[in-house]
Amino acid sequence: MTVKTDLQGRISSHRGAGENKAASRWEALQTVRFREPVKSSVDYRVTPVSEIFGINVFNRHVMRTLLPKAVYKALVRCLDYGEQLDPAMADIVANAMKDWAITKGATHFTHWFQPMTEQTAEKHDSFLVSGGPEGGAILEFSGKLLIQGEPDASSFPSGGIRSTFEARGYTGWDPTSPAYLMESTNGKTLCIPTVFCSYSGHALDKKTPLLRSLEALNRQAVRLLHLLGNREVRRVTSTVGPEQEYFLIDEAFYLARPDIINCGRALFGARPPKGQEMEDHYWGSIKERVLAFMMDAESELYKLGVPVKTRHNEVAPAQFEVAPVFESCNIATDHNLLLMEVFRKTAQKHGLRCLFHEKPFSGINGSGKHNNWSMADDDGNNLLEPGRTPHENTQFLVFLTAVVRAVHKYGGLLRAGIAHAGNDLRLGANEAPPAIMSVYLGDKLTEVVNALIEGQKELKSSDGKVVLKFGVSTLPHLPRDDSDRNRTSPFAFTGNKFEFRAVGSSQSIAFPNTVLNTIVAESLDYMATEIEKAVKAGQDVNAAAEKVVRDTLKENKRILFNGDNYSVEWQEEAARRGLPNMKNTVEALPEFIKDETKEIFTKYGVLTEDELIGRYNVRVANFCKTINIEWLLMKNIARTMILPAALEYQSKLAATIVQTKDAVSGINLTAQENMLRDLTDKITELLVALERLESPLGGSHGQNHHGETESPLMAKFYQEEVIPAMQEVREKADELEILVDDALWPLPKFREMLYIY
Ligand code: ADP
Ligand code: MG
Repeated sequence: MTVKTDLQGRISSHRGAGENKAASRWEALQTVRFREPVKSSVDYRVTPVSEIFGINVFNRHVMRTLLPKAVYKALVRCLDYGEQLDPAMADIVANAMKDWAITKGATHFTHWFQPMTEQTAEKHDSFLVSGGPEGGAILEFSGKLLIQGEPDASSFPSGGIRSTFEARGYTGWDPTSPAYLMESTNGKTLCIPTVFCSYSGHALDKKTPLLRSLEALNRQAVRLLHLLGNREVRRVTSTVGPEQEYFLIDEAFYLARPDIINCGRALFGARPPKGQEMEDHYWGSIKERVLAFMMDAESELYKLGVPVKTRHNEVAPAQFEVAPVFESCNIATDHNLLLMEVFRKTAQKHGLRCLFHEKPFSGINGSGKHNNWSMADDDGNNLLEPGRTPHENTQFLVFLTAVVRAVHKYGGLLRAGIAHAGNDLRLGANEAPPAIMSVYLGDKLTEVVNALIEGQKELKSSDGKVVLKFGVSTLPHLPRDDSDRNRTSPFAFTGNKFEFRAVGSSQSIAFPNTVLNTIVAESLDYMATEIEKAVKAGQDVNAAAEKVVRDTLKENKRILFNGDNYSVEWQEEAARRGLPNMKNTVEALPEFIKDETKEIFTKYGVLTEDELIGRYNVRVANFCKTINIEWLLMKNIARTMILPAALEYQSKLAATIVQTKDAVSGINLTAQENMLRDLTDKITELLVALERLESPLGGSHGQNHHGETESPLMAKFYQEEVIPAMQEVREKADELEILVDDALWPLPKFREMLYIY
């Protein structure tokens, strides 16, 4: 036998070539050693960013050049002010779109939509309509095809909204989000962002309610601004900048981890000796291969007009973050989905895998998506920017108060909107905000708010100087990058926007923002109505606004919390304040079907009762299915990978002991025997835990004793029985990982996956 010096050699010397069970792990280590950074197709030294940004987007610039003036103008009115587009114009737009796409190398188009799966969906259609009478190709794309598609909807979740006989769904063009060309190895596809509805008009997707919520927000915000004397404003939208966290691991490791392949997270794995405690990863210098990936993904995103801006190493080893420049809510949502897709694809090109799961590796930080949210008018003025004039200040305080009230009144719904199995592993785990919703305003603004609540007419600084006279002078300067910026708050005011930090990294931001837009719309409606009443009663509008702000803040102040959200004291304090603390998805989801939720969604035309219940059902089913898959996979890996390795080691140890006793008569092998005993005990414990995991559901595939699959009752059962049983199996298996011969261990270890690129 030749003894090699590399890792593969270690196996052959250990076990003799060919019979090695841990081969995939060792092969992975080998592969990673020889990886090189991959070059991107764009070289910025030749093509500057300004030349590639948006080249694959059918944006306003392109439309202005390609469309007749009247059509372009009508389209702009539709985009900026929500006016309906004359269907006759759609043919002209479609034709221009097709010519543009074909010139750039596209062969197909697709309606790109967002079913209730957290993913996107697409079915490609070629522009080719016939071979033509003379044998030449005829390519066509009509306004009708642009405006509406009819995909078979029967395989998308509807939560029971769509009856089975009505399998057809309809996709409808969303002109407010620009069409784009997606490049792939062998060509380009024209992607048209669309909504997705049933024949009866029920929303089967995430975009439709988002657009409806934006309409509701627009209506109430414009009404309030007009009331406050700001009459020029014609349209208000929310603005969103989602910071996206993710993990990268080498593809070779990924392929040797069936749990990460199928569940997006490691179901097993001992905590690595080195985690994040050295604090050496956060903002550390970015490794060459990773940076090559980031730059490549960014160049693809630039082409798609996605304004990615920041990149850095995050807290946990192998964890990173990317953030774009904020955009209007609908586009920011589409762009975040595109970003995730481009990141996934580009990672593969670089021999890496991008993990968006909230908690791929237990024992180190998980990933979230900080959803920065504000509102802006049609001139781009940020409505949450503290103003420079007394008038602007009043406006700022009114809008700020509306958000505070919304989070207080609908905190439960906000919590439910981010509830799913993955996020359960992260929220409240001393790294992410807790499941208790509260609002952080920072010290300066809290002083202002407290003075207002206490009915003071002016605010004085510690040296007695008047800093602010309400309704008369401007607000004191609110430092943007306050050193006391609170990283533990789920909903923090950060100078001129709110940062909703509890959103999960794998989630679409569509629904969390649908909730935000809707609950703020309701609050703006409330404030406008109250101010109107006072004005009708003869009060001056500014005085009325001040009073409504004061009263509303007073009523909702228990949601304000500037302290450490990770602390136990806050849990107790929040309980005293009566703030809900819904610890997991199963506790949070019923918020969807509460009367208040039905009322607000129907009142503002965002979701009908059926649509809401459908979404609740989808979420419940998704939770059940996720845990069920993890459960099945866990049994599978434990029985077919971990136990065989452990038993093999047990037999090796036993054989060694017997052989040694044979060879040396009377030798004392107590220590070795104890080693064997320890190992055997752990194996037994794993087996016992596995039996428990296998028994509670009667062993059948995703059904309890009553034959139920996905129901609220099943979800509760998964939460209370299956998850704890899974935790126990993991604990035992992870203990074995640090006992068993390393050469036999089949799964790449955390200490390898998180550090080796
Ligand atoms: P930090 O990590 O310090 O919070 P980042 O730069 O990582 O800051 O992310 C801040 C995000 O907030 C960016 O996406 C930024 O564009 C976005 N943002 C800034 N202003 C607004 C606004 N008015 N509305 C929505 N998002 C905003
Ligand atoms: Mg950030």
